[in-house]
Amino acid sequence: MPEPLLLDGKSLSKQLEQTLSSRVENLSNLTGTRPTLATILVGDDPASATYVAMKAKACHRVGMESISKHLPSHTTTEELLSVIRDLNEDPNVHGILLQHPVPHQIDERAAFDAISPLKDVDGVTAAGFGSMTMGSQAYGSATPAGIMRLLSHYHIPLEGKHAVVIGRSPILGKPMAMMLLNAHATVTICHSRTQNLPELVRQSDIVVAAVGKPKFVQADWIKQGSILVDAGYHPGRVGDIDLEAAKSLSAAYTPVPGGVGPMTISTLMAQTFEAASMLCGQPC
Ligand code: NAP
Repeated sequence: MPEPLLLDGKSLSKQLEQTLSSRVENLSNLTGTRPTLATILVGDDPASATYVAMKAKACHRVGMESISKHLPSHTTTEELLSVIRDLNEDPNVHGILLQHPVPHQIDERAAFDAISPLKDVDGVTAAGFGSMTMGSQAYGSATPAGIMRLLSHYHIPLEGKHAVVIGRSPILGKPMAMMLLNAHATVTICHSRTQNLPELVRQSDIVVAAVGKPKFVQADWIKQGSILVDAGYHPGRVGDIDLEAAKSLSAAYTPVPGGVGPMTISTLMAQTFEAASMLCGQPC
């Protein structure tokens, strides 16, 4: 077996950010608009706080602005909707990111859907999902859109391939499956009620693990020469696939860390830039 190809999200993200920095500067010089991402964090979950801080840092790396709204954990749906409406109306804000998950008393779907489609740079609204699924212009959910960008960069063939997506969350598994389908893969979507999961994975050319359980996908589920995409990230620098054991069987794999995570962030940055360009009348 030849050495598997490492799908290096970290290095591709760096390249994307470099290109983006000069485009941000050009837009700013041309129009006076500095692309701005507003992040909303509700509650005190440390992992969520870290993710929001990483996104704000990435904005500054590429010359964009970020505004952060930190709301207490007892925030109601109505209070959150009011913050989102204000950001929708704010001409200095071009993208809005509501960090998932929100505390249980909040209707997360209602909050996501309150985000203006013009500012839905994290691709979380039902309208955006519908448009993306139908192949119309919409910002894709940042993690699966980042994965698609990475697969495309490495010329991974998708057409006619059997892709198994493990997970069906609205921000990851479902949009991932639709993006692969739109790229002409044959897609099987698996979830917690799926029967014979190892058998289904054994039949796949591409596996996307978006389960949220460390080392869930085992090496003996993997078909030789398949493509492994691991969206998970857990303490101990492990993902949702037992990569140490499985990667040598694959033709290509995303490392953890340094695979899907950086691609999510650079895609969010690119989509915020795109939203700012559209909103200031200079579509890129
Ligand atoms: P989620 O909302 O918890 O969804 C997990 C999915 O896995 C659900 O659809 C669930 O099925 C399915 N699942 C759970 N147990 C299963 C089992 N035993 N067999 C088959 N399927 C099972 O998680 P998420 O937000 O999609 O995130 C998934 C992973 O990606 C997590 O590790 C998360 O940390 C990571 N993530 C990474 C990034 C990034 O930027 N790198 C971004 C977002 C998420 P049901 O629907 O039936 O419950």
